[in-house]
Amino acid sequence: MQRILYIPFDQLHRDYGVLKGADKSTDVIAIIESQAMVTGANWHPERLFFLISSARHFAKDLRDEGFTVDYRKATNTPTGLQEIQKEHKGAPIICAEQSSFRLTEKLTAIDAEFIPNDFFLTPRDLFASWADSQKSYLMENFYRKQRVRLNILMEGDQPAGGAWNFDKDNRLPPPKNYTWPAYLEHTRDEIDTEVAKELKMSPTTTWATTRKGALAQLDYFIKHHFAHFGPYEDAMALDSWSLHHSLLSPYMNNGLLHPAEVIKAAEKAFKAGKVPIESAEAFVRQIIGWREYVNGMYWFLGPEYRNHNQLQATRKLLPLFEDPNKTQMNCIKSTVTDINDRAWVHHIPRLMLLSNLALVTGTNPQEFLEWMRRVFIDATDWVMVPNVIGMGVHADGGLMMTKPYAAGGAYISRMSNYCKGCIYNPKLRTGDTACPFTTLYWDFLDRHKETFAKNHRMSKQVFGLNRLSDLPELKERAQEVLEGLEKGLI
Ligand SMILES: Cc1cc2nc3c(=O)[nH]c(=O)nc-3n(C[C@H](O)[C@H](O)[C@H](O)COP(=O)(O)OP(=O)(O)OC[C@H]3O[C@@H](n4cnc5c(N)ncnc54)[C@H](O)[C@@H]3O)c2cc1C
Ligand code: SF4
Repeated sequence: MQRILYIPFDQLHRDYGVLKGADKSTDVIAIIESQAMVTGANWHPERLFFLISSARHFAKDLRDEGFTVDYRKATNTPTGLQEIQKEHKGAPIICAEQSSFRLTEKLTAIDAEFIPNDFFLTPRDLFASWADSQKSYLMENFYRKQRVRLNILMEGDQPAGGAWNFDKDNRLPPPKNYTWPAYLEHTRDEIDTEVAKELKMSPTTTWATTRKGALAQLDYFIKHHFAHFGPYEDAMALDSWSLHHSLLSPYMNNGLLHPAEVIKAAEKAFKAGKVPIESAEAFVRQIIGWREYVNGMYWFLGPEYRNHNQLQATRKLLPLFEDPNKTQMNCIKSTVTDINDRAWVHHIPRLMLLSNLALVTGTNPQEFLEWMRRVFIDATDWVMVPNVIGMGVHADGGLMMTKPYAAGGAYISRMSNYCKGCIYNPKLRTGDTACPFTTLYWDFLDRHKETFAKNHRMSKQVFGLNRLSDLPELKERAQEVLEGLEKGLI
């Protein structure tokens, strides 16, 4: 029987999803370039280029292998699929479970049939049964279970290296007088050029758009960065935009790489003695821990979770998020410039700079979420929603994280080299040269002190607030800073 096998832009892997059981002689592979997706938001051009070019390369690879591929531009995905279905006498549409609530709903409405989504290491129902058994959803507890269940970095029933985590070794600031490895450049081919022309943009050479390129990135990371990943994973440096991070999220998120392949390569390098345990563990934690946890939580918490705004944050998105010239804060200017350049910064600028700023300024979580989704190369609903709403801006009132990730300039100064060249001083909380993060951190605590007083993990901070002798002055400065940020002057 003829079937239409639908492959969305984030399931581009030959061995997983609906392609696993594909039959070249009867099946039609459907890939839809939805115009609603392309023009629906002011996406970062690099992101659109990456997604579209990867899908077109994938379609070509399947055709070369002998498949019938209908790669179609359509007003939206359901319409495109129904057009194809009409041309094939109403053949059934089969696909792997989608990665967002929205697409699931749309495909359900056209009677698509779903097979389980195997692009993750943890089935959704397995995660839900873990979460159901927990009082609080601590990632660390989930991660340890994953290590045992997947038998990764284990020596019998004990963790390799004698500990579950090496965080204490992995909080180094950026090294001084250090030579970072060169970046891997990805060359462009005819398909890339065609996509870039259609989008009227010129892509960087940062992101691969083929399976071959994604595998080369994995190999480059394992050879040149992996051994040093752990110690510097939280550092931020002006002289390197990616430090020793892997740059693999876009490929795991669009399917060009499967997380199992990444973990296998990492374990192999560790077992060959090429990587110390603190780096191996830190990296494995990100993939089998954080990545799987966030996807699990997205499905567990449900479609309404994204609308949480428990801190009642109503400020409109600040102009500095769109334009780095609208701020004098060195850390933010540099981060937003990096995003404009290549649609990526690592987890600490995302958390401790961008989200922290949205949190302490009381920026509306949904506006901030929409901006984050637009500008990152690896943004997808399942990963952005929990990371932003739960982890980044604490809009869920602590469902996911027991305390907000709010920090003043002291943290940023310790973990980066941004502050030296900044007109602000991370140590000051009042006065014209006070670091906006430092001022706003205390102001944020003060604004929410009643809520946080009930949280035992925040009691130390609230206690610190009560000891500030200059609180009235600080509150005045905070007002000036907020007004200045809104005008793009701070
Ligand atoms: C507010 C916020 C928003 C984020 N938005 C996204 C997003 O839209 N897409 C995305 O893939 N990641 C997101 N992350 C997680 C993380 O920042 C990126 O995965 C990482 O920076 C990607 O670069 P890398 O591949 O070099 O990662 P590495 O530092 O090399 O880490 C390896 C891998 O671990 C996984 N990982 C690590 N942390 C997380 C996490 N918190 N959630 C999910 N996976 C994780 C990623 O797959 C990543 O490729 C976000 C984190 C925060 C705090
Ligand atoms: S002083 Fe404050 S604003 Fe300036 S770079 Fe440091 S943390 Fe950022």
